[in-house]
Amino acid sequence: MDPLLEGLDPEQRAAVEAPRGPVCVLAGAGTGKTRTITHRIAYQVQRGHVAAGQVLAVTFTARAAGEMRTRLRGLGVHGAQARTFHAAALKQLRYFWPRVVGDEQWDLVDNKLRLVAQAANRVGLSTDSDSLRDLASEIEWSKASLIAPQDYPAAAERTHRDTPAPSPQLVRLYQTYEQLKNDARLLDFDDLLLHTAAALEENSEVGEEFRDRYRCFVVDEYQDVTPLQQRVLDAWLGPRDDLTVVGDANQTIYSFAGASPRPLLDFPRRFPEATVVRLERDYRSTPQVVELANEVIRWARGRSAGSRLRLIGQRPDGPRPSFAEFDDEPAEAAAVAQRARALMDEGVPASEIAVLYRVNAQSEVFEQALAEVGIPYQVRGGERFFARTEVRQAMSALRAASSSPTGLGLPEAVRKVLGGVGLTDEPPAGGSARERWESLLALVELAEELVATVEGADLARFVVELDVRAEAQHPPTVEGVTLASLHAAKGLEWDAVFLVGLTEGTVPIQHADGDDAAIEEERRLLYVGVTRARVHLWLSWALARAAGGRKYRRRSRFLHDLVPDAHPASRTAKQGGGPVPKRAKPKCRICGAPLLDTQAVKLGRCSECPSDVDEELLAKLRTWRAERSRELKVPPYVVFTDATLVAIAEQRPQDAAGLVGISGIGAAKLDRFGDDVLTVVRTGST
Ligand code: ATP
Ligand code: MG
Repeated sequence: MDPLLEGLDPEQRAAVEAPRGPVCVLAGAGTGKTRTITHRIAYQVQRGHVAAGQVLAVTFTARAAGEMRTRLRGLGVHGAQARTFHAAALKQLRYFWPRVVGDEQWDLVDNKLRLVAQAANRVGLSTDSDSLRDLASEIEWSKASLIAPQDYPAAAERTHRDTPAPSPQLVRLYQTYEQLKNDARLLDFDDLLLHTAAALEENSEVGEEFRDRYRCFVVDEYQDVTPLQQRVLDAWLGPRDDLTVVGDANQTIYSFAGASPRPLLDFPRRFPEATVVRLERDYRSTPQVVELANEVIRWARGRSAGSRLRLIGQRPDGPRPSFAEFDDEPAEAAAVAQRARALMDEGVPASEIAVLYRVNAQSEVFEQALAEVGIPYQVRGGERFFARTEVRQAMSALRAASSSPTGLGLPEAVRKVLGGVGLTDEPPAGGSARERWESLLALVELAEELVATVEGADLARFVVELDVRAEAQHPPTVEGVTLASLHAAKGLEWDAVFLVGLTEGTVPIQHADGDDAAIEEERRLLYVGVTRARVHLWLSWALARAAGGRKYRRRSRFLHDLVPDAHPASRTAKQGGGPVPKRAKPKCRICGAPLLDTQAVKLGRCSECPSDVDEELLAKLRTWRAERSRELKVPPYVVFTDATLVAIAEQRPQDAAGLVGISGIGAAKLDRFGDDVLTVVRTGST
């Protein structure tokens, strides 16, 4: 068999082998979507259906584009373009601009918030940094959604937007921002896309040249396309249909920025002749992780949820995901660092471990905890690698040195030059010095990688390589634990993943409260997080922020159905997250002896003590459970286990407090079944 088809399952193979034309892979996390499209590109190139140089593959983050390039190179494809929408548009616009606009020059906006601040000032809006960020996002959302300033109020109303300022003021802000930007001959990121689409749409000669150059288009993570990006894609495509899209509507996490899974879900309708493939085998994660992922997404609502499939784990069994509750964030971070250390001692490389959180500000406490135990780490989505001061210094030093011969091999030469900007033989203890050192070391590793692939590469060649990467923002991998936001983790995978800070107000984020669509997006975000883990998965939360602080937080509502009821953390959640009272050791309610095994704790009595179960009630409870489980399409034990039913029939609780006193009934079950059960107990009927 063709080696490019080996190692693909029948559905993946169908997508890879599909003839030129529209292909849509609609599938869950870890089912091999990215793998399928990279194989499809390689296969089409190998068969001579398209030349590598005519392929344009796009995705949404620089990291994901880099990942795609790496996988393509691994499959022996050279010359195919894999870029973000923005990078692709930037390149095209630079090329076509003189023909479309003439010799008028432009620059990219390098400080957007300053422009927004000027505009906000003029229209009398607040200019503190939080407001500015919100205002900038609102302008970005409008542009990504193809909404002109005058149409903003109607659009905001239609989409129930939580606007950061009254609509009329936002209209003026948006107009002023555009004015200031245009006067300064600047383009922002969204303009890059707008101008690219316009150049291709309005200029037939440009359009034709482009379509001659690129013939095959591929989009990964298509569920996150914005109307603006879709317009660019349509302009690229013109009247043709050689388009492969892959995505998972249940991983839509950029709706707030204008992204929509609709083009993905509607693809088969737009292209009725499309090859449509659904994948449900999960090759990334252990069945234990897959099971948890299925549980998270099971409760999803809305259009995206309609496309979900139950994933089937393909890997050997692994450890159960662990749940942990802490008094405060420093305690949580210290435990994460300790566990990461233990995993590393077991042989998991640091680069195969990630700590994921909801907002970037959460990284700090984890950075500190990792530094304290000497674990190297890198922060993703923080400062971009090539924007870091030490990397820029290193690049100028390398550029300066590249004109004279060194007489050394490339990696040694790079080491020597970087010695001048702070690369020591031994790493510094921790903190930001350590991070700088890691960045410099990453450059040396890049040099090692280059000599391995390009024979005779010297400093000058290396500098070119760095420039190319900087342009494409594909940072070298630093051998350290990854700290990243859930958003930045999309499409990536690690052996061990820590999902931290899972409290109400963080996951789901505060401002999603009361908005069903926003809550669903938060649930999908957790799903994205869970599905990043191959083997080890940890979910944790802290009841207070500072060490010894008041414990006013509650764990995330999304965990209610996930944390096993017998888990000690379930107890605390029930009490609303207040200070955890010391619980008396459970005792047998018949003989008073301490209870040791789980079954006994559940029943509230020793197994030897006589059962005072109300058999008639028990039978009725069983009937009720059978009805509920049929209705919910879940096995009966998911409603209540036998032991819990027996405990209810023995104890005949009369109110919610009585029910919660029964081990096995957590807050979630109380919410869902409490009233029903109490009715059965009180009236003997359902
Ligand atoms: P996401 O939705 O998170 O982007 P994805 O569907 O793009 O996930 P991939 O990243 O392509 O999934 O694949 C997940 C993992 O499973 C990768 O490590 C990939 O190499 C592996 N994999 C995919 N298909 C197969 C297969 N047929 N046999 C073995 N491993 C596979
Ligand atoms: Mg993928």
